[in-house]
Amino acid sequence: MTNKKLIVITGASSGFGAEIAKIFNQAGNPLLLIGRNIAKMEALPLDFTNIMLAQADVTNLTDFTASIRRAEAKFGPTDLLVNNAGIMLLGNVENQSSQEWQTMLDTNVMGVLNGTQIVLQNMIDRQGGTIINMSSIAGFKAFTNHAAYVASKFGVHGATETIRQEVASKNVRISLVAPGAAETNLLTHVTSKSALNDYQSWKESMGGITLDPKYVAQTVKFIYDLPQAVEIREVDIAATRQD
Ligand code: NDP
Repeated sequence: MTNKKLIVITGASSGFGAEIAKIFNQAGNPLLLIGRNIAKMEALPLDFTNIMLAQADVTNLTDFTASIRRAEAKFGPTDLLVNNAGIMLLGNVENQSSQEWQTMLDTNVMGVLNGTQIVLQNMIDRQGGTIINMSSIAGFKAFTNHAAYVASKFGVHGATETIRQEVASKNVRISLVAPGAAETNLLTHVTSKSALNDYQSWKESMGGITLDPKYVAQTVKFIYDLPQAVEIREVDIAATRQD
């Protein structure tokens, strides 16, 4: 049994979340991995000895809470929550479905607020703990075809800074990681062919080189490994060629 503390990662079944799971698994932390597809998480190349998997949607506060409480009953309080789950659906505002906007705002904003609320009281009570929110370069810079996604990630930036101000005096850390474009499953949900084409042209204009997700995982670990009294408020990380 490890004496390391519980780390909760949402959206751990692919992309950044899977890399973050890998790096903390190698470090020996007990993990709770949350996603909507258990089979995808079971297939990850991890040592599952100290890993709990939970099928939960971050927009469902009841299921999300229950999964974290189950892990805490086994491993102790959550010391790091990585609010990583997110979805990006591209399109022009004049014809994109409002259901796509709703899905993004629910997942990317409500999911982050839900996760934060679930772990925060215990962190405040014990005056320790860390929350890392996965935002995006699109959290402070606009991109065409990205209106609702940009709105959701600007929301994550605003909420994170607000919460930081609320909990700083309690010695609770909350940080933002804002990555640039990376090859993950993120684009697989996009329904607009023209938006997808625009995205691919944009990527090619930067030499087709995107950020390797492993550097996002390393960034998350660096933020967490600093002493509790030191808080990285925000890291923006992208492929050097990205505009
Ligand atoms: P992926 O699609 O590979 O991963 C997204 C993860 O979120 C999956 O594990 C998915 O799992 C999970 N997820 C989606 N919706 C929900 C939900 N409602 N409840 C629980 N889990 C959910 O994409 P990325 O790894 O790229 O995305 C991770 C984060 O990084 C997102 O917040 C994204 O916005 C952000 N980001 C990505 C960038 C990129 O270029 N890739 C750039 C900047 C930021 P499942 O479907 O099994 O539930």
